[in-house]
Amino acid sequence: MRSPVHVRFAPSPTGALHIGSVRTLLYNYLLAKKEQGRFILRIEDTDQKRFVVDSEQYILESLRWLGIVPDEGPEQGGDFGPYRQSERTAMYTVYLKRLLEEGHAYYAFDTAEEIENMRERLIAAKVTHPQYNAISRTWMKNSLTMPKEEVEAWIAAGKPYVVRLKMPHKELIRFYDTVRGWVKVDTAVLDDKVLIKSNGIPTYHFANVVDDYLMKITHVIRGEEWLPSTPVHLLLYRYLGWESVAPQFVHLPLLLAPSGVGKLSKRHADQYGFPVFPIAWHAEGLTVNEGFREQGYLPDALLNFLALLGWSPGGEQEVFTREALIEKFSLERLGRSGVKFDIAKAKWFNQQHIKQQELSVWVGYFIQEAQKEGVTCQENDALAICELVKERVTFIKDFWLEGRFFYVDPLLYDENLLHKKWNSQAEQMMILFASKLATLIEWSLLFLKELLQEVIQCHHSSVGALLPLLRMALTGLTAGPDVMAIIYLLGKDKSCKRITVFLEAMKQR
Ligand code: GLU
Repeated sequence: MRSPVHVRFAPSPTGALHIGSVRTLLYNYLLAKKEQGRFILRIEDTDQKRFVVDSEQYILESLRWLGIVPDEGPEQGGDFGPYRQSERTAMYTVYLKRLLEEGHAYYAFDTAEEIENMRERLIAAKVTHPQYNAISRTWMKNSLTMPKEEVEAWIAAGKPYVVRLKMPHKELIRFYDTVRGWVKVDTAVLDDKVLIKSNGIPTYHFANVVDDYLMKITHVIRGEEWLPSTPVHLLLYRYLGWESVAPQFVHLPLLLAPSGVGKLSKRHADQYGFPVFPIAWHAEGLTVNEGFREQGYLPDALLNFLALLGWSPGGEQEVFTREALIEKFSLERLGRSGVKFDIAKAKWFNQQHIKQQELSVWVGYFIQEAQKEGVTCQENDALAICELVKERVTFIKDFWLEGRFFYVDPLLYDENLLHKKWNSQAEQMMILFASKLATLIEWSLLFLKELLQEVIQCHHSSVGALLPLLRMALTGLTAGPDVMAIIYLLGKDKSCKRITVFLEAMKQR
């Protein structure tokens, strides 16, 4: 591995960050940390048409929430700045001149209409790749077909032009991709890529390569959609004399929709009701009401989930802290095939990360949520309740949602359950249970369990006949933690009172 490792995350500020980009970001970050290299954030804002105001802020805030701090970037600065491509124009000009002088790039003056006509002609002639390329360029208006003086005169007169890369006619470009292995592309299928647009701004391809070179990038880790662009990038490396320092390419497989068909998109997210963006965002053309942050995911759980979508740590273990991910990460264990996005798994990771923390960490959240409903609770009680409900918690807010009934008396009882379970024997058992409970002297879980057994045996009945009703009387719910443990925490008075209220309500039914 070339050292020191320099990697970059290079988002374009064209909207919110898709979760697939967060995975790309994560793999770059993990490699940099693992190899004690540098992780650079570069904003690729050369596409003015797709530029979205505030998108950069959104990206920065997403990184902040994820706890990923670049070593260099627009906020941190660094030796290779500036870190926004729009501020680096002068640097691109130097290399453009070199390409033009050495005949690897040329000026093209064709209008959109002329290019369209050319394409139509090629389509009519059944040409396989109807594009601006080594063949068609010979009959278009460019500096390869026009006399030098005319080209200069046109430029001086302010005629709009673009600069294109002079793609070799038929050449096999071979490169090694860490994930894909050897990739071969015939330049005959590629067009003469525009390097500088008519507004003087470089295209993605050109700015990206120049910046990767200047920032001494050793590994380009990015989504598979960029694989077809790599031969173009490699030609630029060659023509600029940088071949020996070209980065190692690592193209990550796609994140697939939950069905496994097609790539994961916002449409799937809307359809199945899960987020695909890290945080909420409202901007023109895109509204994301809830991101992972708003839904209650812990950044480390989300990163753990994403880390395993395309990379395997080897072995059975799945739950890792950020530090452990850094330690384990290696490019060799990246997978090749597309990975299904399974939100149930993301929830599972969240659950596991919540469980791995000391419960006392979550008690404050419980008390806060309670306060929002005007409920004051003691720290000790909150801790005991959190302990009791922890197996049922997916998000932090669930601690309160699952434990709320301790503070809020039930208002309604489930008719379905009553229909199935409520009868005179159940009523008798409930009355007996309440009276024994009221006179229980020693308050312990063990005695409560014995009491339950006594009542059931006395009526030759079963746990299933009484317990769901007791749960309903005490909590108003049909599911939850162990009923005797609930009674134990709720206390004698509250438990007896709730059973009495329930029995009264049954009489009125
Ligand atoms: N700006 C590109 C993007 O938005 C970066 C691709 C690359 O990493 O080369 O994904």
